[in-house]
Amino acid sequence: MPELEVIIGLEVHAQMSTKTKMFCGCDNDAFGKAPNTTVCPICMGHPGTLPAPNAKAIEKAMKASLALKCTINQENHFDRKHYFYPDLPMGFQISQYDFPLSSKGSVTYDIIDSSGKVSDTKTCGITRLHMENDAGKLTHRGSTTLCDYNRAGTPLMEIVTEPDLRSAKEAVAFAQELRRILIAVGSSEADMFKGMMRFDASISLREKGTDTLNPRSEIKNLNSFKALEKALQYEEKRLRGLWDDTGGPLKGDITVGWLDDQEKTKMLREKETADDYRYFPEPDIPPLRFTASDIDALKNNMPALPRELKEKYLKMGVSDAEALMLVDDSYYQKLFEAVLDKTDDVKRARSLVLTQIAGFKKKEEKEYGPVESVERMIELLNSLIDKTNSGAIHKNQEKGILQEMIECDYDVDQAIHVLDIKPPLEDNAINDYVLSAIQANPKAVEDYKSGNEKALAAVIGYVMKESKGQADPAKVNEILRKELS
Ligand SMILES: [Zn+2]
Repeated sequence: MPELEVIIGLEVHAQMSTKTKMFCGCDNDAFGKAPNTTVCPICMGHPGTLPAPNAKAIEKAMKASLALKCTINQENHFDRKHYFYPDLPMGFQISQYDFPLSSKGSVTYDIIDSSGKVSDTKTCGITRLHMENDAGKLTHRGSTTLCDYNRAGTPLMEIVTEPDLRSAKEAVAFAQELRRILIAVGSSEADMFKGMMRFDASISLREKGTDTLNPRSEIKNLNSFKALEKALQYEEKRLRGLWDDTGGPLKGDITVGWLDDQEKTKMLREKETADDYRYFPEPDIPPLRFTASDIDALKNNMPALPRELKEKYLKMGVSDAEALMLVDDSYYQKLFEAVLDKTDDVKRARSLVLTQIAGFKKKEEKEYGPVESVERMIELLNSLIDKTNSGAIHKNQEKGILQEMIECDYDVDQAIHVLDIKPPLEDNAINDYVLSAIQANPKAVEDYKSGNEKALAAVIGYVMKESKGQADPAKVNEILRKELS
C-alpha cells in the first residue's frame, strides 16, 4: 500500500452582521422572530421588484477580504445561480460567479496542543470571497414541510480555500482562526449556535509525493467545529477503506451529508457542476466598481487582527492559552484592558480577570453569575481596586470580596460588610504577630537561615492564620525578612 495524504479544502458561509438584508430593507435579525414576519416582496421574489445591494454588507465583505489578505477586484458583479428548491423564493440565488468581490489571499493559523501551547503554525490559501443571499429555512414534520423565509435574503460571504489543509485538526484550527478574523473586523458575529457560520468540506486522498487532485467527497452543511472535525475524520477513514478495496481514489466527485446523531456521512448525489446552475450576470444590478482610493480608505481603517492582538498579549507575559482567551472572548478582553488601564499592572489584570473571574465562571458553569454586563463588571473591578489602593483592604482579600460581589451582585462595601472583613493591620501589630510566629516555628526559621528560602512560607502562613487574614502578606514578608536578617 502506498502512503496516502489527505487533501482538504473548505467553503465557508458566514452571515454578515448588517441591520438589513442583502437586497432589501427587511430586518436581518430573524433570531427568535415569528416565521415569515421579516419578509417583503423583494426577498420573496415577487414579479416586478428590484433588488438593491446593501452598501454596508459590501463594505463588510471588503473588510473581511482585506483581513484575509485577498486582492479586491475593482470590477466585479452579481450573477444568478439557478436551482429549484422550496426554500428559494426567487427560483435563483443572487451570487457572484466568474468575477467575485476578491481573490487570492491567505490565513496563517496556529495548531494548539492539548496543553494549550502552540505546536505548529501553518498557512492556508484563500481562493476567493464572494457575496450572495441566503435561502429560507425548511422544517420537515412527517409528511408536511413548513417554510420560513425570514432568513431568505440574509447577506452571506462565501469564502473558498485552496486545498491546503492536511487533516481534520488543521481544518478546525483554520476555521477557528477564520472565525476570529471575521469577528475582529466586524464582518460577521459568526455565532455558530445561531447558524451564522457553516462549512462545506471537500476531502480527497492521494499518494504522498504526488500532486494530483483526485475526485473529492464534499460534505455539506456542517454547522459546528465538532461536526467539521468528526465528519472529516469519518470521511477520511471511509475513503481510505475504499482505496484499500478499489486500489485508488473516488471515480468522480460526490456530495454527502453529515448525520450528526449517527456520526456518519450519507451519499446525497454526484456533485453538481457550474453548468448545472446556468449562471448568468444578474441583469437587475449594475456591476460594482471600486476605485483604488475606496479600497485604501478601508485598508487604513482596519482594526487589529487576532494574530496581532495575540502577539501583543504574549509580549505582556500572558500564556498562549490566556492570550487566546483574550482574543476569543471580548468579555474578558474588555475587563482585562480596563484593569490594565487603571493599574498598569499586567500581573494584577491577569490574576483578577483571567484567574479569578474566569475561575468563578468555570466553577458556576453559567454566564458569570448575575453580572453579565461588561460595564457593570468593570465598575465592580474599579471600586475593588480603589479600595485596595486606599489601604482599606489588601490584595489578598480581593479574591473573596470579588466572588461575593459577583455571586450576590453586591457593591464592594456591601461585600466587605457581609464578609466581615476588618481593615488591614498596622505595621506594629504585624510586627507582634511576626515575633510570635518566629517563636512558634523554630525549625522553619532555622531552615530559612541555612539557605532554604521556601521555609519562610510556613512562618508567613502562621501569621496569616493567627491574624485571620487581616495582615497583608506582602507586609508580613517584608517585616519577617527584616527581623531575620
Ligand atoms: Zn425583504
